[in-house]
Amino acid sequence: MRSYFTDPLSLLKKLNINPQEILFSTQAAAQFNFKVPESFVNKIHPNDSNDPLLRQILPIAQELELHDAYQTDPLNESESLSQPGLLQKYHGRALLLVTPTCAINCRYCFRRHYPYDDKGHLWKQIENNISIIREDISIEEVILSGGDPLSLSDDKIADLITQLETIPHLKRVRIHTRFPIVDPQRVTKKLINILSQSKLKIIMVIHINHAQEIGIDNQKVIAEFSRHKILLFNQSVLLKGVNDKLETLIQLSKTLIENQIIPYYLHMLDKVQGSAHFEVSDEKALVLYQQLREKLPGYMLPELVREIAGEKSKLPIS
Ligand SMILES: *Cc1c(COP(=O)(O)O)cnc(C)c1O
Ligand code: SF4
Repeated sequence: MRSYFTDPLSLLKKLNINPQEILFSTQAAAQFNFKVPESFVNKIHPNDSNDPLLRQILPIAQELELHDAYQTDPLNESESLSQPGLLQKYHGRALLLVTPTCAINCRYCFRRHYPYDDKGHLWKQIENNISIIREDISIEEVILSGGDPLSLSDDKIADLITQLETIPHLKRVRIHTRFPIVDPQRVTKKLINILSQSKLKIIMVIHINHAQEIGIDNQKVIAEFSRHKILLFNQSVLLKGVNDKLETLIQLSKTLIENQIIPYYLHMLDKVQGSAHFEVSDEKALVLYQQLREKLPGYMLPELVREIAGEKSKLPIS
C-alpha cells in the first residue's frame, strides 16, 4: 500500500528535527495542506534542517509574510481559462486541467491558492472540453495537467486517452506529473500498458528539482517509460535553498541524462503569495545560468524561462 505523510510534526520527529529551529508554522500548514508520499520522505536526510527536499514541502512562518509583488493568481489563469478546466494560451496546444489533486503539496506552487475544493468539478468538464478540442483543428497537442493528472485512476486515464484518440487532428498527449518521482508506486503495469498502447505520441514531463529526489525506485519506473518509447523531459523550478547552486544544477542535469530524461525548462518562480522566501533574483539566476552553460554540453542545459501572463510562449530570461 502507498502511504502519505499528512502530519508535519510527526515527520519532523521522525527526521529528528526541532520544529522551532526551522520556524515550522501550523498557520502556514492550514493555508495549504501538508501532503508528502513516503517515497519522497525516504529521500530526506534526517538531522538536516537545510535538506533541499524538506525545504520544498515544510510549512514555515515565512509563508505568512505578505509581499506586494506576490499575488494569489500570479499568472492570471482565472482569466485565460477559455472554459472551466481548459487553458489555451499557446499555439497548437491545449491544456486540460483534469484533477485538482497532487501527489505532493509543494510550498512554492503557483496553484496553492486555487479554489480547488470541489473535487469532482474538473472531471465533470471533461466531455465538454474534449468537444472544444475536437472542433479546433489547430490543436495538435493536449497537455494533461492539474493538479497532477496521474491522480486519476488508471481507468479514467484510459477512458480519457481513448476519447482523445478519436480526434483526427490530435498528434500528441503530454502528461505533466510529479508521481514518477515522488510516488513511483503509482506507476502500475496497467498505466504503462495504457500509455504504451496509445496511437498518440505520449510525452511525459516530470518535475524534479534536485538529484537527491531520484532514487532506485524512481529509476525503475523511469526506465519502464523509456523502454516503452515514452519521451521523457524534466522541468524544475529555480528555488532558493533548494537548487540555486551551480553544483546542484550540474548534478541534476547529469543524473537526468543518465536516466534518459532531457532537461527541458528551468523555471523562474511564479510570484505566488507565500513563496517569496524561495525567490532567486534575475541577476543571480543569469549568473548561475551562464556558469552552467560553461560547464555542460548544450543538450544538458534546460532553458531558463519565466511565464508572463498574456505572452504567446514562455519567455527566456535575459
Ligand atoms: C506551459 C504551458 C504550456 C506548454 O508550453 P510549452 O512551452 O510547450 O512547454 C501550454 N499551455 C499552458 C497554459 C501553459 O502554461
Ligand atoms: S501542481 Fe505541481 S508544483 Fe503544485 S503542488 Fe502539485 S505537484 Fe507540486
